[in-house]
Amino acid sequence: MRILPRVAGAAALGGWLRGGWPGYETAPEPAPPAGPTVEPRRDEGTVAAPPASGDELAVVRAVAKARDYDRSYDDDVWIEDHRWNLLVRTAARLERCQTTVGHGNFNRLGFEDIVAFARGYPEIGDFETDELELMEELFAADARRYGFLGEKTLADLSSDLPERDLERIAGTGHWLLRGPSLEKYRRIRRDLGERVLLTSGVRGLAKQYQLFFAKAVETRGNLSQAARSLAPPGYSFHAVGDFDIGKLGLGSDNFTDRFAETDEFKRLVDLGYVDIRYPEANPFGVRHEPWHIKIG
Ligand SMILES: [Zn+2]
Repeated sequence: MRILPRVAGAAALGGWLRGGWPGYETAPEPAPPAGPTVEPRRDEGTVAAPPASGDELAVVRAVAKARDYDRSYDDDVWIEDHRWNLLVRTAARLERCQTTVGHGNFNRLGFEDIVAFARGYPEIGDFETDELELMEELFAADARRYGFLGEKTLADLSSDLPERDLERIAGTGHWLLRGPSLEKYRRIRRDLGERVLLTSGVRGLAKQYQLFFAKAVETRGNLSQAARSLAPPGYSFHAVGDFDIGKLGLGSDNFTDRFAETDEFKRLVDLGYVDIRYPEANPFGVRHEPWHIKIG
């Protein structure tokens, strides 16, 4: 794959991490809706009229952008130029981790697992200090600043998935959390048969980092565009039990709206299994994901 330099995108600088992260660029705030404006009263030290709710504007904008999610918009947030090579380097190291560990086991590893693992394997190489800082900063950052409005699912970077809580799902390369996730998946298979299978199960932070960084490289550093397709590390419900299902033989189309057109999907709906985390026009700024099954 050829890595292209990012195109000139957003303009104004704005720090948005712990104490401000000067590296990320943000576009100016979206224009307020048309209507009468209230001038703040500056006399006598009185409190100015409250601004229009930023949250409501953010949701409207996020829903609009998620309709055509895989393109860039003027107010998207990009990684700053001087961190582009760092992003690519970190993404490549995460890929080497996954290749060395193997895709199946990589799915259940935490952040600290892969840092230790990389140290022991010259073909991966120790994570550099700036790579660790980038990963930590991304975890600590409020993803709303780049347009992802979903809730945080993991509070702690050291969160992990104890193997005793997991069940390996034969033939899929994926794992599920024992309890409601595993039970729901087994009921789906019992009722729909083996044409429906797990396409992504529980995911530790390592996998979410690998997916998000790979997407951020694909979008040439556009974090907002990446987050419309993939929850940032710490925000994925795959970490706490949600899973993806697909139809045997549909391949990568399982992760498109084509899955929603299959008879299998219609049966899932009829049987009441489908409780979609990210329906159409969801208020989180995430693309429609009919294949993603919500737990809890
Ligand atoms: Zn999913």
